[in-house]
Amino acid sequence: MNISRRQFIAGLGAAGAAGMTAPLWRPADYPKLESSRPVVDMHVHLFGVLEKNGCWISPAQRAHWSHAYLLRLLDLDHADDLDEAYVQRLAGAVRRSSLHRVVLQAWDGRINAQGAVDRNRTTSLLVSNDYLFKVVRRFPDLFIPCVSINPYRSDAMEELARCADLGARMVKIHPPTMDADPNKPCLKSFYRLCCERRVILMVHTGNEHAAESVGLHNADPIKLELALEEGCTVIAAHAGTGQFYDRERFFRNFRQLIQRHANLYCDNSVMASMLRWRNLPEMLRDAGVLDRMVHGSDYPFPANGLVFWNRLRPRMAARLMEEKNLLERDLQLKRALGISQAVLERGAALLHLL
Ligand SMILES: [Zn+2]
Repeated sequence: MNISRRQFIAGLGAAGAAGMTAPLWRPADYPKLESSRPVVDMHVHLFGVLEKNGCWISPAQRAHWSHAYLLRLLDLDHADDLDEAYVQRLAGAVRRSSLHRVVLQAWDGRINAQGAVDRNRTTSLLVSNDYLFKVVRRFPDLFIPCVSINPYRSDAMEELARCADLGARMVKIHPPTMDADPNKPCLKSFYRLCCERRVILMVHTGNEHAAESVGLHNADPIKLELALEEGCTVIAAHAGTGQFYDRERFFRNFRQLIQRHANLYCDNSVMASMLRWRNLPEMLRDAGVLDRMVHGSDYPFPANGLVFWNRLRPRMAARLMEEKNLLERDLQLKRALGISQAVLERGAALLHLL
């Protein structure tokens, strides 16, 4: 619903006054979650930097604005064991949230001419599949494993089969950082194996701002056509959207693609964040897109209730602003904006969770 600027300012004034005197005006409580299926956050990042964990961060990523920002946000900038502190923060956030579980992602890199991961060409991160499984095994009630495999790896098929044996439910490809074209005909057998092993394919689509990328030429959802034709269940992460000032916007292509492929979905990850205020309102007007949407936060990237102030009741805006749990804030902000229960439950349905 829309409220006027005057009503909003009056609400904030009342909130301030309530803080100083008796609490006549309180932030709202979140409406109760009436779910028949578990609510799963389908897009959460595992993060690590230590060699002993099979993780690594490139100098370019370390210097990227997002690195220092996220460490400060999670209060990790002085942690002795960054990898473990991150896992503990995340596990605590899942436990204290209304979520049932979260899908946790590894992160693969770029590869060299021999088909092996090449650190000199990788400008983002490496979070190994083995480390992901190690973390998931410690918290099986909280995490569901989404491995990451650059499909150009010479051992991509073996790695996918190995990960499926270990319990992978999803595999993530990130074309702008992996420098991989998801529509390359030689990937057919990789996609067939995803179908056979019932591993959901998640592919990043749209603009990328949080990691060093090689460009957006492979970030268009139309690049998913091959995997869709091979019968994979595909989730286009971010549905081809970008931030409000981005010129390349592939959302239109995603909308066209869902007309042709019943096995295509999108997530709403990162869309409640500060510079994405255009995305969700646009999607909420499109019933066809909502019918294919799954819930995902893109943790640790924070949702921001303030930029949606004119769509929120003042008491709910105040509640969301004081919410420290990033997973909960993302979930409740999207609910307050009008994301339906069907969207929240769809991820569990795709994963065949009861
Ligand atoms: Zn992400």
